Amino acid sequence: MKLSLVIPCYNEEKNVRPMYDAVNAVFGRAGFSYEMIFVNDGSRDGTWKELKKLQPVGNGSLKCINFSRNFGKEAAMYAGLKESCGDYVTMIDADLQQRPEIALEMVQYLDAHPDTDCVTGFQKDRNEGIVLRFFKYCFYGLINAVSEVDFHQGASDFRTFRRNMADAILSLGEYYRFSKGIFSWVGFENHFMPYKAETRNAGKTTWSFRKLFKYAIEGIVAFTTKPLRIATGVGIIMSLLSLLYLIIVVVQKLTVGIDVPGYATLIVLILLIGGIQMTTLGIVGEYIAKIYIQGKDRPIYIMKEKISQPSQPQQKGGMAPETDGPVI
Ligand code: UDP
Ligand code: MG
Repeated sequence: MKLSLVIPCYNEEKNVRPMYDAVNAVFGRAGFSYEMIFVNDGSRDGTWKELKKLQPVGNGSLKCINFSRNFGKEAAMYAGLKESCGDYVTMIDADLQQRPEIALEMVQYLDAHPDTDCVTGFQKDRNEGIVLRFFKYCFYGLINAVSEVDFHQGASDFRTFRRNMADAILSLGEYYRFSKGIFSWVGFENHFMPYKAETRNAGKTTWSFRKLFKYAIEGIVAFTTKPLRIATGVGIIMSLLSLLYLIIVVVQKLTVGIDVPGYATLIVLILLIGGIQMTTLGIVGEYIAKIYIQGKDRPIYIMKEKISQPSQPQQKGGMAPETDGPVI
């Protein structure tokens, strides 16, 4: 098997068939074997029903995984990767924003460049609002400043990589999977390929601003412990400043006989120090919460069912799907 395409799906009933046809149209002519792995991430619409209708054509085989509930895109990508057996793996969205033609270009690039392990799609021009673009820009600036791994501005999850990199990603069994960080952390030789994201084929994005913000915080917590050190630093600076202030107050009292400064200064200082303490506790809490969840060692996803259908180079129609029972 040359290529596995991992396609996470959440409420994509109208996109599954067009996506399937688009991939077959592009890779059916490519002259190598490929598999599509659709992961239904607990969709509330008819996505799973649509996936069950799909039949393999030509060199393409098909796997469909159904989660017991929504576990998030990261978990869906991990599950798809785990099921993949291709020499190359492509991560691609189900909504046709990322064209399969570009995935083929990525495969061709890897074929032509044996030293490159991964081709990463990045959006040069984003068709997003100015506010969202600004926040994303700030996020990349911040995470690059505080984390040890390098985050490329605008790099997407849309990428094609070799089996060695797929195995490296699978070896990281962490519960909070911030894929952009994981892709960078494992290293390997990367090539960035610009692409233009199309408009969504049907349906709407599930990434609200609130969800993106939470995702950004998770990314920072997952890939650096610097906020903890910053909190310690702020604590030390505050302690030194208050010590200095204490000396000033004592000297003033002894020399000029001035009383302790007024009520307003006191209130402001109490509130300021209280605020810093609460923020620091919150930062520590974020890390403890992550340790707590990871400590439970729960699975990243729970698979309800799986359908595997081999490719049908000669046959028309298709074989009866082989369905597995619940797998955890
Ligand atoms: N997705 C998923 N689980 C989720 C949310 C999204 O598997 O909880 C999938 C979704 O079906 C799509 C891809 O992740 O294939 C990207 O999602 P979306 O198009 O909503 O994000 P955007 O393109 O706006 O970044
Ligand atoms: Mg999308």
